[in-house]
Amino acid sequence: MILLRPDAGLPERSSVRAALDELQIVVEEARLVDRIAFLVTGGDTSWPADSLARIPGVDKVVPLGHDATLVEATLGQNGQGRTVSVGTASFGGGQVGLIAGPCTVESPDALLQIGRSVRESGAAALRGGAFKVRTSPHSYQGGGPAALSELAAVAREVGLPFFTELNDPRQVEQVVDRMDAIQIGARHMQNFPLLKEAAATGMPILLKRHMAADVKEWLLAAEYILQAGNDQVILCERGIKTADHHVRFMLDVGVIPYLKRRVGLPVVVDPSHAAGDWRLVAPLARAAIAAGADGLLVEVHPRPETTRCDASQALPPGDFDSLAQDVRHLLALDGRELCEPLAGPSSSRNAVGA
Ligand code: PEP
Ligand code: MN
Repeated sequence: MILLRPDAGLPERSSVRAALDELQIVVEEARLVDRIAFLVTGGDTSWPADSLARIPGVDKVVPLGHDATLVEATLGQNGQGRTVSVGTASFGGGQVGLIAGPCTVESPDALLQIGRSVRESGAAALRGGAFKVRTSPHSYQGGGPAALSELAAVAREVGLPFFTELNDPRQVEQVVDRMDAIQIGARHMQNFPLLKEAAATGMPILLKRHMAADVKEWLLAAEYILQAGNDQVILCERGIKTADHHVRFMLDVGVIPYLKRRVGLPVVVDPSHAAGDWRLVAPLARAAIAAGADGLLVEVHPRPETTRCDASQALPPGDFDSLAQDVRHLLALDGRELCEPLAGPSSSRNAVGA
């Protein structure tokens, strides 16, 4: 990867390209976070990096190999992480955000009730699935675009930004103008056409780790998004497959401090899909926060018996409220703070239970 200087303009871009043409090096242009890069894709690849680094306008030449170079470059020089904001919610750089809501968008009334209650408890964003990704084709597949519109309307009414999953590149254009952030689910972590299409929106992307992905594969999936010029990525650990089955998936708590030392992207944890049992959600969530997570993604439902999706892990709203309180206490221990929702809209707050 041939990185131009951040201040290189069009003339330098053309002159570097002309120099590369002369050396018969075939490149593709990529727009990075703060600059243009040329990725060598073919031609004469025998030129040493230090020769290419001398082309006027070039800042440096980075051998890409198979590493997540762009993702690792997000870590600040003193090891500080970045903040990714989704509307009023912030994750990373000392900010911790709670994302909460039902597994799937079903009844608008239930959604509104959940939205108001999690906001009251301190959630910074709402969650809900419209395009569900289910292991079995016989399971409920979600309400589609109509459910997404419902979620967007409730989120607006409640005054919170929202996260929802897209699982097909064709959905992106269809619904992205109604969304605040794109969730990429575990099973689609390596759906590369989806990653590229989602990245091109420039919108924040919550990228879940596949249940069988190692860290390298996960970070390389994030690398696809950064390579497309979008660095608004939040990583989400949601449990992996291991030898044991006493929980639905094994929450990899160790990966949180590990990633904090290696990358600057916020790391959020989903204890719900890891636990698969609502009674295990709060302890796992507390462990994640204590280990340095920049946020939590939690499934909450007041009447799990009325949902077609993940009823067993839905946390009752009262338990979510206690969890939020625990999170505040834990954060006070290491000088971080919960990114609480902004005050108001008071009309909808007052309308709780009306
Ligand atoms: C979800 O968050 O709704 C979900 C399906 O999770 P995962 O992709 O982690 O299984
Ligand atoms: Mn779910």
